[in-house]
Amino acid sequence: MSLAVGNLSFAVIKEKLVAQQRLERHDAKWLWQNATNEELIDLAGLVRGRYHKPDEATYLLMRIINYTNICVAKCDYCSFYRLPMAKDGYVRDKEWIFAKIDELAALGGELFAFNGGFNPQLKIDFYVDLFGSIRQKYGDTIEFYALTVVELIYIARLSKLSLEQALKMLKEAGVRWITGGGAEILADSFRLRHSPLKYTVQEYMDAQKEILKAGLKTTATMVIGFDESLDERLDHLETIRQFQDQNPNGLFSFLSWTYKPYNNELGGNEVSAEEYLRHLALCRIYLDNFKHIRASVLTQNANALRGLKYGANDFDIPWEDEVTEMAGAVIERDVERILGYAQAEGFKTIARHVVPSKDCQ
Ligand code: SF4
Repeated sequence: MSLAVGNLSFAVIKEKLVAQQRLERHDAKWLWQNATNEELIDLAGLVRGRYHKPDEATYLLMRIINYTNICVAKCDYCSFYRLPMAKDGYVRDKEWIFAKIDELAALGGELFAFNGGFNPQLKIDFYVDLFGSIRQKYGDTIEFYALTVVELIYIARLSKLSLEQALKMLKEAGVRWITGGGAEILADSFRLRHSPLKYTVQEYMDAQKEILKAGLKTTATMVIGFDESLDERLDHLETIRQFQDQNPNGLFSFLSWTYKPYNNELGGNEVSAEEYLRHLALCRIYLDNFKHIRASVLTQNANALRGLKYGANDFDIPWEDEVTEMAGAVIERDVERILGYAQAEGFKTIARHVVPSKDCQ
């Protein structure tokens, strides 16, 4: 059992949660520094239980489609990007993309997430044509996350459009979702150190607001394991919790994954499996206004399913993602085995649908 420090103790913090009171930043800090794993599981279970049955978890089969690896943002933690003119830079054509969709759709996959880079050759027309063609060809039989928040900002500026104008064009083409990708750590000190061209926290959050204003859906993400401090992690959590207070249920879900340190400028080490689980629990406890906390099978494999005990209620089974694979992720594609990991932790696994024809959740 953890010891009391100052006015804080596990019992005091638990009492707050039982009374449905919100934890302050110093409570979260105390928990991270002092709580045992069992205590974090206990508290995460309390908050998870406000939204979900304790023994159920949802999942969906999905694929990330990397449509271009050309990017001028030059984040030092990235293993994926190639600068314009690089011999191995690419932009995938529609036939290639359709084949990727067809392959996973045939296996029952419904969700496709597009993720590329800041490619100075691709203005808004490219995306309107691509996403419009996908919606036309597949209708409502699949769903797709069209862009990350930071790609959206880049494309709008490159095309000399306001975010409002760019979002209107994308929406008319059939886009319904943008994702919170590109957040990494929402602390300007972190962004200045590692990704100065990837927009400030304010720019990122303003874009999230515009996405909601345009009537599109969006999510929250976070990546840990670079060299960020505990305070930078807490800045991130505070920023999105505040945003969610101001825009109730605006961010559909929160997904946190771990940095992979291979083949890039930054290097470093991977966070331990235990650190990821403790982080997941802290997120579940602190982000009390988020219904869905998702675990990252993409970067954690079997350990992600242990995360269901640490407060997560949902997970993707990803088929492919060049960005994290280039950085060292090894994707497990045996769906039954992955579901078995969750079941071994005591959870009933339920397929989550994202297309309207199948009881969308
Ligand atoms: S992380 Fe994304 S934005 Fe940064 S360099 Fe890589 S592809 Fe570009």
